[in-house]
Amino acid sequence: MEYLQNLHTHCTFCDGKDTPEEMVQRAIELGFEGLGFSSHCHMPYSPGNYLKPGKSEAYRAEVARLKEKYAGQLNIWCGIEFDLFSPTDELDLYDYVIGSVHYFRFRALDKFVGFDRNADAVQKVIDEYFSGDGLAFAEAYYADCAKLPDFSRCDIVGHIDLITKNLEERPYFDTEHPRYRRAALEAVEVLAERVGIFELNTGAIARGYRTIPYPEPFLLKAIRELGGKMIISSDCHNGQFLNCYFAESLELLKSCGFKEVYTFNGKGFDGHKI
Ligand SMILES: [Zn+2]
Ligand SMILES: [Zn+2]
Repeated sequence: MEYLQNLHTHCTFCDGKDTPEEMVQRAIELGFEGLGFSSHCHMPYSPGNYLKPGKSEAYRAEVARLKEKYAGQLNIWCGIEFDLFSPTDELDLYDYVIGSVHYFRFRALDKFVGFDRNADAVQKVIDEYFSGDGLAFAEAYYADCAKLPDFSRCDIVGHIDLITKNLEERPYFDTEHPRYRRAALEAVEVLAERVGIFELNTGAIARGYRTIPYPEPFLLKAIRELGGKMIISSDCHNGQFLNCYFAESLELLKSCGFKEVYTFNGKGFDGHKI
């Protein structure tokens, strides 16, 4: 099969390069059957370009306009990428919610600290907040991931091992270390039961951070053993890479023992043999 949809799509309403309509046109050019937008939710603690209050109505209206304009050519959905500490009040207005963790909250310091950053910036976070212990950083991250369903509606678990983003450049920790594995597997266990859908996310390949998608094969195998289901997404910030590494991703899923891959149908997820 060919995987012909993408649910993790950023656009000019957040930090993506292309307008929603340019993304739709790119999806049609690639022969996609479906495209879901997932702008970053409002993160009051972040300096980045996200759906600030007042912008989300315009985002939903634009996606609704495209849905109507391109009806019959492409299925279009309006989703959102939620961050663990984002406000949750509007989540019911979306077709689906991707639950992700990009920030730590240090209550005692009254501080939010982001780690979806480059290697130097992440090293600073590890040194400053985890006394240089990369494994402690990983443990804190996965403990937060496991809380996602407590914080919000969550239909898809986003890039579960995001903290491995810079590891090819800077090995702050070893993903074969028992402490790392235990922390990651504990989170996956909770999320497989409470959410059930994970993404194979190729975004870091398109952006030159990694040569393999999230999550690593040992986690993929664990997800399969726990009965978790996989979708494929490109976490796209540039239409050029809308289907980046999709063919290879199907092979990777097969090599990890998956017999099916899932796509969204507007309400739930359908399995397809691979
Ligand atoms: Zn993300
Ligand atoms: Zn994203």
